[in-house]
Amino acid sequence: MNRIENIDYVSEIKRLKKEKNAIILAHYYQTGDIQDIADFIGDSLALSQKAASTDADIILFAGVRFMAETAKILSPRKKVLIPDMNAGCSLADSCKAEDFKKFIDENPGRTIVTYVNTNIDIKVLSDIICTSSNAIPIIESLPAGEKILFGPDRNLGNYILNKTGRDIVVWNGACHVHEEFSLEAILKIKGENPEAKIIVHPECELPVRMVADYIGSTAALLKFTKTDNAETYIVGTEPGIIHQMKKENPGKRFIPAPPRDSTCGCNECSFMKLITIGKIYKCLRDEKPEILIDSEVLEKARKPIIRMMEISEKSGL
Ligand code: SF4
Repeated sequence: MNRIENIDYVSEIKRLKKEKNAIILAHYYQTGDIQDIADFIGDSLALSQKAASTDADIILFAGVRFMAETAKILSPRKKVLIPDMNAGCSLADSCKAEDFKKFIDENPGRTIVTYVNTNIDIKVLSDIICTSSNAIPIIESLPAGEKILFGPDRNLGNYILNKTGRDIVVWNGACHVHEEFSLEAILKIKGENPEAKIIVHPECELPVRMVADYIGSTAALLKFTKTDNAETYIVGTEPGIIHQMKKENPGKRFIPAPPRDSTCGCNECSFMKLITIGKIYKCLRDEKPEILIDSEVLEKARKPIIRMMEISEKSGL
């Protein structure tokens, strides 16, 4: 039981959800207690789809700000709450609109495909948004020969460039979590557990991807652990996902890939971990902080997201 200041957060959150017709959407990188209280857990694509289809009056987003903004863009008439406005994203912050505009100008005539992990001013500049679950089908849905500009993640960008062979120029941004994994430490664990499979997110650097048995989005990694017959996995993404992996694979073993600096715990996303069960309770009780977006900006950012949703639907994702 989570009880601080004599409040049983879990029961109070359940009561408030019912009273306010609210829904909690949680990303796989949230802590286990938050995932367990959520109405829906998923990766960015699944959470966007859920945000677009829910009939709840309030969406409380347990994740980072760009995800809550995407939910608001897809459900503009709903109240969208985030328990901590400081829950940003180092990858989104590695792509400032002013610099990205310059990059677009330097590479004219290209279709702008951006990863959903961006601030809203980058979405406004984009033709199509993608997530790590649908990046390849989205690139492949474009006519062969179409010139593409991709941002902001250089690792995901290079991964899809190699997979599709398309003409893509890639923005030089990165996520501080996925670039922290230590190849040396991963190989040491593999040496000690030779039967283990290495599974990693495409935001990881090339040397880490090269030793992987499987590369995929968080949702794809989770699915892989359910269909694959190995007993042990070394997991190269934010370790919050291991909560679901353990729940859905009782008996299997999951080892988080360690960061380069073994003293820092920096394989965890500090932004995701700003969300706590106590903050969720207060946010639902007070209905703030709320995501508010200027209607003109929202409309502009909505177009590339809707294109993504349409292509995903056609691809059966
Ligand atoms: S894990 Fe990386 S990309 Fe995901 S929210 Fe955290 S900083 Fe951003």
